[in-house]
Amino acid sequence: MKLQSFGVIGLAVMGENIALNVERNGFPIAVYNRSREKTDAFMVNRAQGRNARAAFTLEEFVSVLECPRKILVMVQAGKPVDAVIAQLKPLLSKGDIIIDGGNSWFEDTERRTQELEPSGLCYIGMGVSGGEEGALNGPSLMPGGTESSYQYLSPIFNKIAAQVDDSPCVTYIGPGGSGHYVKMVHNGIEYGDMQLIAEAYDLLKNVGGLDNQQLHEVFAEWNTTDELNSFLVEITANIFPCIDPDTKKPLVELIVDAAGQKGTGRWTVQTALDLGVPVPTIVAAVNSRIISSYRNERIAASRELTGPSRKFSGDTKKFINMVRDALYCSKICSYAQGMALLSKASTIYNWNLHLGDMARIWKGGCIIRASFLNKIKNAYAENAFLANLLLASEFKQTILDRQAAWREVIVTAAQTGIPVPAFSASLDYFDSYRRDRLPQNLTQAQRDYFGAHTYKRIDKEGIFHTEWIPVE
Ligand code: NAP
Repeated sequence: MKLQSFGVIGLAVMGENIALNVERNGFPIAVYNRSREKTDAFMVNRAQGRNARAAFTLEEFVSVLECPRKILVMVQAGKPVDAVIAQLKPLLSKGDIIIDGGNSWFEDTERRTQELEPSGLCYIGMGVSGGEEGALNGPSLMPGGTESSYQYLSPIFNKIAAQVDDSPCVTYIGPGGSGHYVKMVHNGIEYGDMQLIAEAYDLLKNVGGLDNQQLHEVFAEWNTTDELNSFLVEITANIFPCIDPDTKKPLVELIVDAAGQKGTGRWTVQTALDLGVPVPTIVAAVNSRIISSYRNERIAASRELTGPSRKFSGDTKKFINMVRDALYCSKICSYAQGMALLSKASTIYNWNLHLGDMARIWKGGCIIRASFLNKIKNAYAENAFLANLLLASEFKQTILDRQAAWREVIVTAAQTGIPVPAFSASLDYFDSYRRDRLPQNLTQAQRDYFGAHTYKRIDKEGIFHTEWIPVE
């Protein structure tokens, strides 16, 4: 019996599409799903004429795979992954490779690696970005885990990943949970990008007075620029002209303004706090989704809490360009935060991440794909030890050239009562990072005053405490 090259467990949207992508690229597949109906439906509706074998037990599944077995687990993150591993483990042989392609918490991946590898099995925790379309036609892949097993996977991953001008959107990320960590931070950056675009939309619509056709034109025009050309700006431009067939109104106007989230943005913020890395733009994005979900409370509050009545009276064309500059400067700050978080995690967990490679593999396939990532890749190519992206010559100059517009947009937003939490958080990040003296000297004085926490001085070495005297 001829054996299959690659196995996929879990035939929901992602598993189905990756399986088909693998097969299309010349690797015969075996598939298994816990409930039989999905497997049957896959074989009938999508795998006709393909080199695909369905298995209805895990015993059968492993028996049709060539060794070392390469098995992608694409099931719901969390306990289901542990359940699948527990069932698979006794059926596998030394050297077989389990790849978890879901959005797993990186510490779970570390734990699973430690549980599996002593028995001679190899474990890869792989971030997969690009949604169902990317899974089918070319995702961005972020595999982390045992490097020695990666040689068996790279011929497959190099083919199924999105292809961009300089290479496939995949690279070996690093050991343990690093692949899932990088995917999580990617998602946090995605939250930031989406919130920044939402704020630009709010300003253009509610301050600049643009209608949906004009919004479409502005975002479509921005998408032609080297700075803002990206999947997210492109789909934003495409959303505005879309008309609801029932009401004949723009569909976007009919959508409830309460954003959902599945948790990777929140995880990014939680781990950033744990590692002591400021990611205020991503925090603002997560908070904005949370406050948006308080819809009934907001509607009630809108009847009682009034904002400024001031209307914008400036030049609309100029304002559009200023919002573009504010969006771009904020985006640079958001990526600077994400990259700083990856850099710190790499140091703490000994992952040896190559940040330029991360920017490269995000250039295609994934939701944050953008021309701008080339600039980040180049910045790390020039200096792999860049302390912060803001210090890369191109980004530094961009912000210096455009900060006046960025500041003016935020002032206008405050004067007209439009919340721009991610724009503001980004500017605060920039202003905090660039200042050689912050007011935390006073914080230290207060801490010493009420808790004898001590402080250091700028004029002499040592640790100091003062018996602060209350002024009568
Ligand atoms: P999903 O809805 O997250 O999960 C459904 C799949 O998990 C089904 O095949 C289901 O089998 C299986 N499953 C659930 N509990 C199980 C258990 N205890 N034992 C065995 N199988 C179990 O599927 P998805 O949307 O395709 O996502 C898969 C993974 O990719 C997730 O981690 C997700 O976060 C990640 N991801 C998703 C996207 C996306 O756009 N959807 C993008 C990137 C990453 P049954 O059919 O038997 O219920």
